[in-house]
Amino acid sequence: MKLPYIIIVDDDTQVLHAIQRDIRNEYRDDYKVAATESANEALELIKELKLKNEVVALFISDQRMPEMEGISFLEKANEIFPAAKKVLLTAYSDIEAAIKAINNVKLDYYLMKPWHPPEEKLFPVVNDLLNEWQALYKPDYEATRIIGFQWSPKSHKLKEFLSGNLVPYIWMDIENISEAEKYLASANASKSSLPLVVLKDGSFLVDPTLTELAAAVGLQQKASKVMYDVIIIGAGPAGLAASVYGSCEGLKTLLIEKSNPGGQASSSARIENYLGFPHGLSGAELTQRAITQTLRFGTEILTPQAVKHITIEDGYKITELLDGSQIHSKAIVIATGVAYKKLEIPGLENFTGSGVYYGAAAVEAQACRNETIYIVGGGNSACQAAMYMSKFAKEVNIIIRRDALSQVAANYLVENISHTANINIITHTDVISCSGSTVLENITLKNAISGDEKTVPAKALFVYIGTNPGTEWLNDIVLKDEKGFILSGTDLLKDKSFNTLWKLKRDPYLPETSVPGIFASGDVRFGAMTGISSAVGEGSMAIRFVRKYLQEM
Ligand SMILES: Cc1cc2nc3c(=O)[nH]c(=O)nc-3n(C[C@H](O)[C@H](O)[C@H](O)COP(=O)(O)OP(=O)(O)OC[C@H]3O[C@@H](n4cnc5c(N)ncnc54)[C@H](O)[C@@H]3O)c2cc1C
Repeated sequence: MKLPYIIIVDDDTQVLHAIQRDIRNEYRDDYKVAATESANEALELIKELKLKNEVVALFISDQRMPEMEGISFLEKANEIFPAAKKVLLTAYSDIEAAIKAINNVKLDYYLMKPWHPPEEKLFPVVNDLLNEWQALYKPDYEATRIIGFQWSPKSHKLKEFLSGNLVPYIWMDIENISEAEKYLASANASKSSLPLVVLKDGSFLVDPTLTELAAAVGLQQKASKVMYDVIIIGAGPAGLAASVYGSCEGLKTLLIEKSNPGGQASSSARIENYLGFPHGLSGAELTQRAITQTLRFGTEILTPQAVKHITIEDGYKITELLDGSQIHSKAIVIATGVAYKKLEIPGLENFTGSGVYYGAAAVEAQACRNETIYIVGGGNSACQAAMYMSKFAKEVNIIIRRDALSQVAANYLVENISHTANINIITHTDVISCSGSTVLENITLKNAISGDEKTVPAKALFVYIGTNPGTEWLNDIVLKDEKGFILSGTDLLKDKSFNTLWKLKRDPYLPETSVPGIFASGDVRFGAMTGISSAVGEGSMAIRFVRKYLQEM
């Protein structure tokens, strides 16, 4: 098997030898280490490696080099191996440049010289980055393949499911990759039956359901126990955090997710405001870290499995899944977040997955290379998606009803967008209609002030216009507000039906709903401060109260 490369560049011979020695001693069994004093020589080497189908996992570069600055080197290297992790070696005086590089070249880490002892200052950082890289990288021959039509909603659904569950796959567009025909012939399948999934062992699934696909790639779908201490519904940041704390504190914990773990956060291309990650991290990375952490503590995760409803019997909670199975628990944490609001335009639903996407920027980015695309909405999610897509698309147009982005999006995003040449803001505008034969081809925009209408070609329309609480499945077992957000803690005391429902002497705990032992966390909770950090905080906190409740039982 080919080993991935770690490439080190530093014009200072002594420093180069020292870091090369440390890295080689620690990683020589799993990685090839190449080191050079010249950034140009390193770029030549990288191009050669690419031609030979080799792969680079990590670049480590000094910042101050006579031929070119480390940041420029990393930027060029990134074009050739975009998935490789990037570390800049800096002196104290270069910190400002390094922090800028976090945004400009998506730097993963800046390492201050000297790094001794390496066991404390170098290896933990490098281990972390290499683990992250390994989690998302699979050599071509080991990966699952999805073969289908680029703009098919069915293909999109499978891609989104696998990427959301962190199962690496290779996408093969039947119209552009000739090799894809070979797989079709081997599977004895026709183009009309696509998508086709080719599994690692060479077996095939023709147009599978998500449940079939999940089973084939080894995702758990049945609970192993009859009774759990706590069932957590929804594996967004709140649910994942609750599961980590639940299992870590020794509770038998089951996490149920209807599509893929990570929730809304998983579609975030770059989360820049999560504590402890000054370089930002993608939703996929955050989710992958959280899943690894919670599985390590012993959480069971069922996916894709949606909860249909909850009933109570003698204080025990019975969670019924869509497949009809029932699982018992002493407590429940509902962390089902919110779901994207649909854009209500006649005919638009025909193009969902074939040109119209709700929060799927990361999955469809490659398909939008050199295309003109539109994003509806001007909040943080829309802006993040625009920044991400601007690296692929020729032109990104953000359509908003207001007169400026600054009223609804975070400053740093507005600032980044204003410096990105291929992003345009179209103000005071609505999308009023759409058209296309099989995939989205055109959208019509209407200016609210002038009344002018304009039809423009659009390869893709990404919609970020707000959300609804994820409680449409939840029977009236707990009290909700008129929009469907779950009431908890002191907010319950204001509800007129609360006194008749609540029979305990104590008041409900902060995240507790109108049913003792059922808790709500994250965006689904009425009054929640939305955002990843708040969701993580609420999920962790809910477990503290679950424990208190279990002690009372
Ligand atoms: C594109 C995008 C970018 C964002 N970027 C940032 C950012 O940079 N920083 C930040 O702070 N916030 C960001 N946010 C907001 C942040 O992601 C949310 O506030 C956060 O994810 C809320 O977490 P949650 O766990 O409460 O809910 P969610 O993330 O909504 O997760 C809920 C989960 O429950 C599952 N579920 C729903 N119903 C059921 C059911 N019946 N059975 C089983 N499972 C179910 C869903 O499938 C989902 O996975 C972003 C949001 C989006 C959409």
